[in-house]
Amino acid sequence: MQAKGEKRHLDRVAHKLLAPLLEEPYSARSGWRLMGYDAEQGISLFLEGHGRVLLMELDRRNETRDCYAHTALFNVVVRNYYAPRTPLTAMDHALTARLIKLIRHRERGIELPERPTTGRRSMVRLIEVDRLLVAEGFGQYYINPYVGCTIGCPFCWAAERADLSRHLEGLPRMGWGRYVDVKVNAPEILADEITGHPPGPVRFSPVVTDPYQPIERHHRITRRCLEVLEGSGFTPVILTRAARVLEDLPLLRRFSDALVGFSIPTDDDSVRRKFEPGADPIEERLNALAVLRNAGVATFALIQPVLPMDPERLITLLAPLVDTVRIDRLHLSSDTEASPAEASGALPAAEGNRLQRMLHEGLRAHGVAVDDMDLLNRPAPRERGHPPETED
Ligand code: SF4
Repeated sequence: MQAKGEKRHLDRVAHKLLAPLLEEPYSARSGWRLMGYDAEQGISLFLEGHGRVLLMELDRRNETRDCYAHTALFNVVVRNYYAPRTPLTAMDHALTARLIKLIRHRERGIELPERPTTGRRSMVRLIEVDRLLVAEGFGQYYINPYVGCTIGCPFCWAAERADLSRHLEGLPRMGWGRYVDVKVNAPEILADEITGHPPGPVRFSPVVTDPYQPIERHHRITRRCLEVLEGSGFTPVILTRAARVLEDLPLLRRFSDALVGFSIPTDDDSVRRKFEPGADPIEERLNALAVLRNAGVATFALIQPVLPMDPERLITLLAPLVDTVRIDRLHLSSDTEASPAEASGALPAAEGNRLQRMLHEGLRAHGVAVDDMDLLNRPAPRERGHPPETED
């Protein structure tokens, strides 16, 4: 029997802020449509129109950070989702201006409350949600089976953005890795949602959670969501740091096109222990990739962040196990270019760049596609648009 959960206040806050947009997601006049939104890592709006997708993110207001604009509560970050390095067009700026005006008006009814204190060191909440599937692109989706991640990598860039959402909900501040929200009704909501959307890939790999973190053993939300997708035409795309994904291997094999990947940022487990102490050893992740591949499941790896390593050894280990690899330094938070290893002094920037080059060349020489992963190609936080200069 499904566990009972509490209704989440965050959903009411998001609705209050975005109500006009949610009630009328398509504007015939402008040609833009709100295709999806997410309130679990700040607020993210995915807007489709004129053949492209615009991603607008509302982060915690911080005037020292570069962004498109500030509102009373938020830093507004905007980019072309599929082409983050291309400048925004006049139509993009016009839409952004309208949305910023709406948010400035609506946020007057929202407050960031004084946060209660708590003596608790950790918190697991069972919650019931009214939405799960987020449309993030043309026929592309993601879901968060949980919010929060007890693997708790110190560099996880979701930490700060997820904390803004907890603040909007009036929850106490808790360290990243110490809380998880379990969406107990996620499979039922998903079953309903997929009837109203065209099939496509569904990422179980957003950064605000790991779908196979330890609590999955007890609640099996990820597994039950996979069961919902089986036979539906939707394709699961899973990214994890946990070998527990193998517990779902029989289920994953029943999809003709499931894609499963591991974050493997170094070949050296002593480095892993320093930077990802809560994650599975590197050897276990490599073994899991081998098992998946031998079972006929398509595999990939994400080398992100690039940590100190022997690149030739990592290339040799990974190349036989994956179809494709994505490499990125990753960023500590939304305003820094430094990777965790660089920031800790363990990996000077020049060395990071050298490692990236070696990985690119070495993996390609082994026939592995590199950075050719549209399904995981969320733009890095540094790619952001700015208002047209003439607006100043
Ligand atoms: S496993 Fe992923 S989601 Fe979890 S803390 Fe580490 S980087 Fe963040």
